[in-house]
Amino acid sequence: MEKVKCLIIGGGPAGYTAAIYASRAALSPVLYEGLEPGGQLTTTTVVENYPGFPLGVDANALMTDMRKQAENLGADIRRGVVTSCDLSHRPFSVTVDSETTLEAETVIIATGATARYLGLSSEQKFRGLGVSACATCDGFFYRKKDVAVVGGGDTACEEATYLAGLCRKVYMIVRRNVLRASVAMQRKVEATPNIEILWECNTREVLGDAGGVTGARLERGNGDIFDIKIDGFFLAIGHNPQSALFKPWVATDPEGYIITDGRTSHTNVEGVFAAGDVQDPRYRQAINAAASGCRAALDAEKFLKQ
Ligand code: NDP
Repeated sequence: MEKVKCLIIGGGPAGYTAAIYASRAALSPVLYEGLEPGGQLTTTTVVENYPGFPLGVDANALMTDMRKQAENLGADIRRGVVTSCDLSHRPFSVTVDSETTLEAETVIIATGATARYLGLSSEQKFRGLGVSACATCDGFFYRKKDVAVVGGGDTACEEATYLAGLCRKVYMIVRRNVLRASVAMQRKVEATPNIEILWECNTREVLGDAGGVTGARLERGNGDIFDIKIDGFFLAIGHNPQSALFKPWVATDPEGYIITDGRTSHTNVEGVFAAGDVQDPRYRQAINAAASGCRAALDAEKFLKQ
């Protein structure tokens, strides 16, 4: 059976950064990229808020370069999905693609999170063409335009107020007649004149043409159907952390985010570390994921030295 010192699960900014640091620390890391090499960032186009790129950077190019950097430093990056594991004792046992089992002295979980979508086919059709699940990433492209945000939680309110600073008008599409968000966030939304809340509305269809999103067809609670004209359609209905595989051993919060110890990447299982969006319900930015990947590799190095 193959034995590895440091096994990294996940090929996003957290995983690749962990691989860069672990390689330089001579841990000979093996990284499995999972189903979506490059992670969530590959669903967007240009990244303008990753430091070091004065003109922005193509998201796929950024992830390809992070991967190459890790490989150049010696990381063994492999295609493959971790399908099961046993973290009850060290060395940990991890099975890939239901066929290959490895033994790992340390494991860094960097499996990320996935934004929830409504499940409409038109929504998938226009992903990256006006449909986005990250206002901080993509809002800039809708300056002085009209957009909609779906959801009534803190994220939706935060994204709506952020977009209101850039866009001409922001609709919030809220399925109930109340917001779930904290009172402070609700006040902020109410105090923003170019936000209009469309209460008790559900999206039936995202409308568009070859150029991208042009509108949305909504249904009110009373059954009325109507269209709004928009250029951007933002989802803010929550995220799902990819932690299910590890839950029998690793402690998570009620939402499934892996709990790490204070400022470190330590989970409740000694030798298992978590980095990136799978342990971060709050910031969810590539730069934070990369930074926490660095922490996880440093923690793994220190753990192995002890
Ligand atoms: P939440 O689960 O809090 O809110 C999700 C929102 O989306 C709710 O309004 C929900 O409606 C709505 N929704 C869910 N599914 C659908 C659907 N299929 N169609 C239409 N609407 C839907 O998620 P958030 O991402 O907003 O927040 C996650 C956690 O992070 C929360 O604990 C939040 O407080 C926290 N957070 C804190 C921030 C801060 O303190 N600054 C900033 C951002 C998040 P309904 O209410 O009807 O269920």
